[in-house]
Amino acid sequence: MRATLVLFTLTSLTYGLTYYADDSCWNFLDFDLALEEAIKIAGLTYARLASTTDNNDDKDFDNVFSIIFNGYEYKDKNKYAEAKADVRRPFRLIMNMKEASNLKQSDIRFFCDNDRVYDPTDPKSRKGRRWEKLSSTLYVDEKNMMSNPVLPQCNLPGIDGTTYVRHWQTRLPGHNKDDENDDRVTITICDQTFQKPPPKIPPDQTYYFPQAITNDFPSRDWTGYRIDNFHHLITGVIIHELMHAVTKGGIKDAPPDLTTGWEKIEKMPRETANKNAESYAVLARFAMLAQWGWTLPRLRTQPKDTEAEKQCHLKQVEEGIRVGLLAKNGNLFRRQLARTRELRRRDKTLSNRVRAFLGEDKFEPYLKTAKVA
Ligand SMILES: [Zn+2]
Repeated sequence: MRATLVLFTLTSLTYGLTYYADDSCWNFLDFDLALEEAIKIAGLTYARLASTTDNNDDKDFDNVFSIIFNGYEYKDKNKYAEAKADVRRPFRLIMNMKEASNLKQSDIRFFCDNDRVYDPTDPKSRKGRRWEKLSSTLYVDEKNMMSNPVLPQCNLPGIDGTTYVRHWQTRLPGHNKDDENDDRVTITICDQTFQKPPPKIPPDQTYYFPQAITNDFPSRDWTGYRIDNFHHLITGVIIHELMHAVTKGGIKDAPPDLTTGWEKIEKMPRETANKNAESYAVLARFAMLAQWGWTLPRLRTQPKDTEAEKQCHLKQVEEGIRVGLLAKNGNLFRRQLARTRELRRRDKTLSNRVRAFLGEDKFEPYLKTAKVA
């Protein structure tokens, strides 16, 4: 009994998921860096979610969490803390991932081969691909000793990446031989994720936004940009797929009409958001931006502002949050805090989202008007 206990303690201390990137990912120079960034950003997100300090960055991030995962709905502080801990968990699994020394032993395997399929009935089809089509309902991946009942997803238009976890795949006979890791998950990052954007990008063309994080990103002026401008970062796609992978499919994709873009993520009900990979990926994007000093707009009124000016500013903030507009994060001064508090007292029509962004006590504003949990 004692020995079992000791063993359990040892394994839980050293436990961590391992990953391995297939040779096909060497074709994409951006991949390694993006994966490294993804693990780092998962760590940042975890730290922000776990933070109990009271600096403005953390308050802002807390509010972003509440918008995405409907934190406003929790009446009870402990329930709210539990909800944050639940969202933290998969980020922790990602940040603790370690590189495995070979494919067979790894838990999570990355492929960048666009899920190309060899079809023996097609004379033009090339051999030597990871997938082989045996029938229209059977695609075999011998490298990972598994099969898939539908066409591997990168072959469909508009797919950034795809994850195959155990309950979405079938194992081939003898799939456990050669020390094959029984719990393996494969991720394919599709070619469209690596496509370079055109040299000149109008700010409103979110789809073509740069797809690798470059050194100048942290110091760039993102005024006028929206969170959706970061939708196609390779790092973001990796985080999205890893959410499926580390939870073995526990985190899924909400129906497509719910998931595209900030405005849908923001309106998503809590239960859906908790199980939706893109909601986590969007939160991670905000953690990355927070590190560079950017967040959602926050109300800042001046003592000399007239009532009309304050109301106008309020509307702008509300609209900015609705569309996911980025704003430079700054410290609030004591006097500004007093003014916003006063404004809030007088104006009963402030929405929860704006209340949360008033910049003071982070729980009070939405507890008072909380919806039924
Ligand atoms: Zn997904």
